Amino acid sequence: MNEHFTAPALDVPAITARQVLKSFKGQEVLRGVDMTVEQGEVACLIGPSGSGKSTFLRCVNHLEKIDGGALYVDGEMVGYRRVGNRLHELKDAEVSARRARIGMVFQRFNLFGHMTALQNVAEAPMQVKGESREMAFERARELLVRVGLGHRLEAYPSQLSGGQQQRVAIARALAMKPRLMLFDEPTSALDPELVGEVLDVMRDLASEGMTMLIVTHEMHFAREVASKVAFMDQGAIVECTSPAQLFEQPRHPRTREFLSKVI
Ligand code: ADP
Ligand code: MG
Repeated sequence: MNEHFTAPALDVPAITARQVLKSFKGQEVLRGVDMTVEQGEVACLIGPSGSGKSTFLRCVNHLEKIDGGALYVDGEMVGYRRVGNRLHELKDAEVSARRARIGMVFQRFNLFGHMTALQNVAEAPMQVKGESREMAFERARELLVRVGLGHRLEAYPSQLSGGQQQRVAIARALAMKPRLMLFDEPTSALDPELVGEVLDVMRDLASEGMTMLIVTHEMHFAREVASKVAFMDQGAIVECTSPAQLFEQPRHPRTREFLSKVI
């Protein structure tokens, strides 16, 4: 096990969602999402466009506030602190502190264009955690080597391929030593020949015990790497089970219909 990728074990799930509700201007987008992601587990979330997958990830990361139900990360209610029997809404600084424990990788890499790969990865540990420049750059270098970019440390994003940029984005998320990584269609914006190098990095992370929740259309990857796969449709988890069960013997007709279109 690599010390960068493992966090002390907790005896609570990494994510617990119970009947999570979320609406935008009266439109119900999450209609009672139930899901548990255990520590060290790799869970994939699949489903049609518009089914609420990104919204759910954003709720886990407190980028959106839920309207109902309950959502816990590492046993702590997202957005709240319990004092005795009362819940107190977190202040912005507390929200940021908790969010720093969660790494998020999006479809678009969102790297800083005016910074080298090394600077991109070292930036948040220095700015958010106050790490020394030496420490932050040393770790950034290690992480970039880890994702196969040891030879591109000084490259700017515009000089990197999409797959390389996404690997920098993953290294950047890892630099904050997250306990949990959320991926939202990390390979969807990539040319097909660049998808594999990003999935390889994610596969490595999984094998090192990182807890991951991954929204993806890469069914082969989900089949091979996930410990569980959840199918989301119309704002709810229709079916959540082992990849073997979900892909070979889906129980729900909506799951079967979706899989027949994408595989
Ligand atoms: P998915 O990621 O599965 O494609 P999303 O979570 O992005 O689905 O979106 C689910 C629904 O919520 C869509 O109908 C989308 O238009 C709507 N939605 C998402 N974010 C917002 C927002 N900030 N404001 C209004 N509607 C939104
Ligand atoms: Mg989405």
